[in-house]
Amino acid sequence: MENWDGNEGTSAFHVPEWMIQFADQKQEFNKRPTKIGRRSLSRSISQSSTDSYSSAASYTDSSDDETSPRDKQQKNSKGSSDFCVKNIKQAEFGRREIEIAEQEMPALMALRKRAQGEKPLAGAKIVGCTHITAQTAVLMETLGALGAQCRWAACNIYSTLNEVAAALAESGFPVFAWKGESEDDFWWCIDRCVNVEGWQPNMILDDGGDLTHWIYKKYPNMFKKIKGIVEESVTGVHRLYQLSKAGKLCVPAMNVNDSVTKQKFDNLYCCRESILDGLKRTTDMMFGGKQVVVCGYGEVGKGCCAALKAMGSIVYVTEIDPICALQACMDGFRLVKLNEVIRQVDIVITCTGNKNVVTREHLDRMKNSCIVCNMGHSNTEIDVGEPRSLRRWNPGHEDMKAEPWAPASLRTPELTWERVRSQVDHVIWPDGKRIVLLAEGRLLNLSCSTVPTFVLSITATTQALALIELYNAPEGRYKQDVYLLPKKMDEYVASLHLPTFDAHLTELTDEQAKYLGLNKNGPFKPNYYRY
Ligand code: NAD
Repeated sequence: MENWDGNEGTSAFHVPEWMIQFADQKQEFNKRPTKIGRRSLSRSISQSSTDSYSSAASYTDSSDDETSPRDKQQKNSKGSSDFCVKNIKQAEFGRREIEIAEQEMPALMALRKRAQGEKPLAGAKIVGCTHITAQTAVLMETLGALGAQCRWAACNIYSTLNEVAAALAESGFPVFAWKGESEDDFWWCIDRCVNVEGWQPNMILDDGGDLTHWIYKKYPNMFKKIKGIVEESVTGVHRLYQLSKAGKLCVPAMNVNDSVTKQKFDNLYCCRESILDGLKRTTDMMFGGKQVVVCGYGEVGKGCCAALKAMGSIVYVTEIDPICALQACMDGFRLVKLNEVIRQVDIVITCTGNKNVVTREHLDRMKNSCIVCNMGHSNTEIDVGEPRSLRRWNPGHEDMKAEPWAPASLRTPELTWERVRSQVDHVIWPDGKRIVLLAEGRLLNLSCSTVPTFVLSITATTQALALIELYNAPEGRYKQDVYLLPKKMDEYVASLHLPTFDAHLTELTDEQAKYLGLNKNGPFKPNYYRY
């Protein structure tokens, strides 16, 4: 029998059943507080639904096709019209994108291979709301291979890769999404996934919490049949914890965002690669010898600092936490206050998850041509000031009620904005000084570079396993609460990615396992281990 890692014979990962018995691992299900999201359930659309995500840029979009997909009559080659995408004729291009992504998503492909014999999601009706990219398509097709029926909408109005949505619709997935949806389209698409005659979802896969929110608001009775929610984003997970605290969560939910593998790969390794990509694509700059200040030395900051140091930049770090600050010192970075270096640095990068880390005062003091960008939470870290259109667009916004608008920092009459490239603005002071602002202070890598598929593979595999676990869990294993994926499954996700590197994992001997008090097949670390 093949093991979960795809190897014959013995392996550290004997988890051959889809329904893994974790009853003896109750300690693994500890709740964990999550970071504070900016927005509450009462807001109209989540932050993640409007953050741009240009790695999903379209290749075949025809800008002269202004007809809304909602007004088009389209059918796939099998005659089905149960979808709404920009242009079904783009399916072939999308298929190529999906095939490229499959190459870098080895774990999902391994699950598919395994699914030839077992269908752990047979009977599952999954409604999903995520970015619709080639990587998501690989996930959806894997869920299909595992036996699930899926209906899908986009969690972001800009991020859909139209060709991929077309390819999915062509192969029979009811997908309702296109790049550049209006807010009304956004909710319409979600509704088309949920409100279907003769079909009711029994699982939710969400990224941002908007789908979950919609079902709560419009179709609360659906929760009678829903077995669980799998949520990926910080914001969505925060909403779930809020619901749980208020005693309003009706089904078990898995917090995929805080699983160890996702956190490490999304935050540290992904940012280590994509910070350089984002800066290069937008500015063509050379990194060697440049002075850079990185605000925040958490996972994202560590990744950015490591990459820039390796390129020969002189890197300064700011921190509020003495432990992370000491780590920065031990790693060879100069710990400074932003004010101390703000006049001399060539690049300022924020990665704190905080707000107003770079203020108008800092921006006033920067030297000519200083590049300013953000790798952290949304667009709060650099005080750019919201564009007027956004303010008008969502006047009932929670943040706006909570906090009166400060003078719009960089959006004031004495400063001139010059768009020099897509996602690159020169902000010009009256004396001629310019700063180079990237992606208007939104996440640089999501806006201006690609996220490595391999990283997304880890998240997607975690999502798939979380769905399998919740769907197959016997009554009573999970209550109406938010759970982390059991550590053994986290380890399993990692193990599925090892064969890519021809990596050979050492197995514990019986004697060693006894000495360490571990099961030979894991979990290998206690929950509190920090990696
Ligand atoms: P983290 O909590 O590990 O690190 C943030 C660090 O910033 C902490 O060490 C904290 O002490 C420090 N900090 C807070 N306020 C500060 C201030 N005013 N000045 C200096 N330092 C300050 O979080 P993380 O995992 O590194 O994530 C950081 C942010 O990046 C989060 O908002 C997260 O959502 C986001 N993120 C972005 C990406 C991406 O692809 N760009 C990926 C993952 C996470």
